[in-house]
Amino acid sequence: MRIVPHWINGAQVEGAGDRHLPVWDPATGEQQATVVAATDAEVRAAVQNALDVQPKWRAASLSRRAEVLFRFRDLVDANRKEIATLLSSEHGKTVADAAGEVARGLENAEFAAGAPHLLKGGYSEQAATGVDVYSIMQPLGVVAGITPFNFPAMVPMWMFCNALVAGNTFVLKPSEKDPSVSLLLADLLRRAGLPDGAFNVIQGDKSAVDALLADPDVQAISFVGSTPVARAIYEAGTRAGKRVQALGGAKNHMVVLPDADVDAAADAAVSAGYGSAGERCMAVSVVVAVGSAGDALVPAIAARLAKIRVGPASDPDSEMGPLITREHRDRVAGYLSLGELVVDGREDPATDGPGFFLGASLVDNVDTGSPLYTDEIFGPVLSVVRVDTYDEALKLVNDNPYGNGTAIFTRDGGAARRFQYDAVCGMVGVNVPIPVPVAYYSFGGWKASLFGDLHMYGPEGLQFYTRTKVVTSRWPDPSTSEVDLGFPKVR
Ligand code: NAD
Repeated sequence: MRIVPHWINGAQVEGAGDRHLPVWDPATGEQQATVVAATDAEVRAAVQNALDVQPKWRAASLSRRAEVLFRFRDLVDANRKEIATLLSSEHGKTVADAAGEVARGLENAEFAAGAPHLLKGGYSEQAATGVDVYSIMQPLGVVAGITPFNFPAMVPMWMFCNALVAGNTFVLKPSEKDPSVSLLLADLLRRAGLPDGAFNVIQGDKSAVDALLADPDVQAISFVGSTPVARAIYEAGTRAGKRVQALGGAKNHMVVLPDADVDAAADAAVSAGYGSAGERCMAVSVVVAVGSAGDALVPAIAARLAKIRVGPASDPDSEMGPLITREHRDRVAGYLSLGELVVDGREDPATDGPGFFLGASLVDNVDTGSPLYTDEIFGPVLSVVRVDTYDEALKLVNDNPYGNGTAIFTRDGGAARRFQYDAVCGMVGVNVPIPVPVAYYSFGGWKASLFGDLHMYGPEGLQFYTRTKVVTSRWPDPSTSEVDLGFPKVR
């Protein structure tokens, strides 16, 4: 059985721990590799290497650091197919979907390559007579990233591109369910010229995360995963004095007004509801049909579901792959007995085999008290809630404990503008169902979808990985020098 190694100090290191975690092939249901959960000593070794090299990496010129990210960007570009294929073999998503993930991850390297411009501070000449004031964005030191299974390439890139270019060194703890892509990315960073030790990967689960949280040399933690874990990591990390941004789960509502284009709305609901088998934090999981909108929309969605080809990522005709584990598939399927099924994914022929497949399911007239509505299901199950008015739809979005993404489908610009203004949610789409911001904005939900103050990647990502120092400076000038015991004045 293939053992998935750590990556410490620029090389693969086989784990010495005694706790073994399976990496499944979700398409066949067979174990394909083993993660040896990192010991505390291995986590410490990764942090120590990152600590040792950080002064050297920080001292590298801005242009040099940007150049490494630029080269990394080119290497990711040249190896898109290899990354996507490896990713889909462990995650199960189709290779085309995985390639889309790699492309969106790569944007973050492109953004980070602009660091010389992005890391400029401010400068105020003559803030007082003969006194200038300026600000500098300095790195934090060693920072860590803890990432979920559903985007094993993109989410780490959300974090480490900005962290590294700002002069930090990085320890990544990827999901134990699809850990191999992280090693490929580590090797591309090495080939791009990143010094050994500046990027490390430790494999494992909660115990490795706990060791990172307890390590006083880890200055900041970026986390993406489920809400209960995000909340716990935010609390433990901040209690330990670390800077933490912890992104959690979601229940994304797509509001469809009666004037929306039915075909466009149905295409969007199906793409965003079932892409990657619904295992996306920005997946649409609830369609809120306003007024008569549901009458045409539900049959239009159902008609499209009948054509979705469910199958292994290795089959180029597959449009939707399996779920990540058998337990998760069974949990998702468990929701299907709770509502008014229009399409039952358990009847898809792909579910007959040993893989962790579940076809696309559609549930109509879902009650907002039902677990179908209240839980983040994270699978290919779309719930339709019917309401009479826009205000009722908005109330559902705003009362929901999650606030990651939401979208409105309408031809009415005024209604769309009102929705963008009113929605209590971090990311809003107008006739766009998965409004994941481009890399030069930042990604983040509100409410229980994010714990912390700064969103991830983009400008807020750079802010997260730097701290600002303000320098007040006077060059000796005998003509203005005097003794003055009063508080420093600027006027
Ligand atoms: P998860 O919370 O189970 O795991 C995420 C990471 O935390 C993994 O690396 C895992 O090993 C680690 N972990 C798990 N339990 C832990 C614990 N008790 N203590 C410390 N660490 C722990 O999430 P997942 O199942 O890998 O990913 C799916 C979840 O991630 C969904 O809820 C999804 O909405 C969310 N997600 C959110 C975003 C976002 O941007 N908000 C993006 C992607 C995924």
